[in-house]
Amino acid sequence: MKRREFVGGLAVAAGLSACAGDSRDCGEGGAAGDARFEWTAVTSWPPKYPGLGIAINNLADRVATASAGRLRIKVYAGGELVPPFEVFDAVSRGTAECGHGASYYHKGKVDAAQFFTAVPFGLTAQEMSGWLYYGGGLELWRELYAPFNLVPFPCGNTGVQMGGWFNKEINSVADLKGLKMRIPGLGGEVLRRAGGTPVTLPGSEIFTSLKTGAIDATEWVGPYNDLAFGLHKAAKYYYYPGWQEPGPTLEFIVNADAWNALPPDLQEIVRTTAQAIDLDMTAEYMNGNAGALAQLREDPNIEIRRFPDDVIARLRAISEEVMRELADSDPASAKVYEAFVAYRDASTPNQRFTEQAYLETRP
Ligand code: CA
Repeated sequence: MKRREFVGGLAVAAGLSACAGDSRDCGEGGAAGDARFEWTAVTSWPPKYPGLGIAINNLADRVATASAGRLRIKVYAGGELVPPFEVFDAVSRGTAECGHGASYYHKGKVDAAQFFTAVPFGLTAQEMSGWLYYGGGLELWRELYAPFNLVPFPCGNTGVQMGGWFNKEINSVADLKGLKMRIPGLGGEVLRRAGGTPVTLPGSEIFTSLKTGAIDATEWVGPYNDLAFGLHKAAKYYYYPGWQEPGPTLEFIVNADAWNALPPDLQEIVRTTAQAIDLDMTAEYMNGNAGALAQLREDPNIEIRRFPDDVIARLRAISEEVMRELADSDPASAKVYEAFVAYRDASTPNQRFTEQAYLETRP
């Protein structure tokens, strides 16, 4: 096993240039170790939203404490400084030094990025960690974002999501036809080929769209976040499992110039804190989902249902087709796809003999 190193030779240059920019206020004497940095963070989430939204606030607090105030990050929720889906561009341009969001929102700009959040029938949270930190995934991600002047870090995972909230019963593949559903990324493309109409909406618009019938269905996250959004008051059927997002990884992205300007100790604080938040969010969802699901199961107005086997089989077949086509569409996607599928194929037997087999033995 090889521990991956992200920084390479950049730290040396960073030490030499730490007092050169306008977002920094160098301490007396101007030594790299005294330099103070103030960053702006933009996000794709509603303000202080449980799990997804507070991750960046937690990161900012911990970085400020660990650095004794030498790196402070001011956080803006989605829409406060830039719209929720413009985080990537804002950080790439340097409008903000960093941001938190999901890489699959960049579909159309950098298609291969979708593999680093989640793809249908892809990796679970634990497998994503295995692939990214030890299986070569993070190197591929950094290579993919380098032309955009961005350095990505895995920073949070919701675990297996739910299939979503539906105002129509899904009893067969035919019921997907004409279904207007909020479902981003590759999952959306799979739904489209199954006859539905995928829609991308930021979190803040989902409840109203579902309640008013502007959409028939939505996936969002899972019990913890869905309950907080009140989605159980906007639709009757809650389907599982979340085939479309089995272990979505969120991203913390840093403008490469801002990253390179940090001295090595602050870079290590950012890197280590991002990794801590990555674990912290997984734990928060594991705990929060169990409690929220218990509440939802007692609600007489909703029905929790498993997707029929033939619906899952059809979605799986289309998903494999969509991913192969994505791989054929550009060289970067082909490279990431091959690595991703190789990792999934290698991981599956281990998961079947351990996690899956064990869970089936539980009382
Ligand atoms: Ca989702």
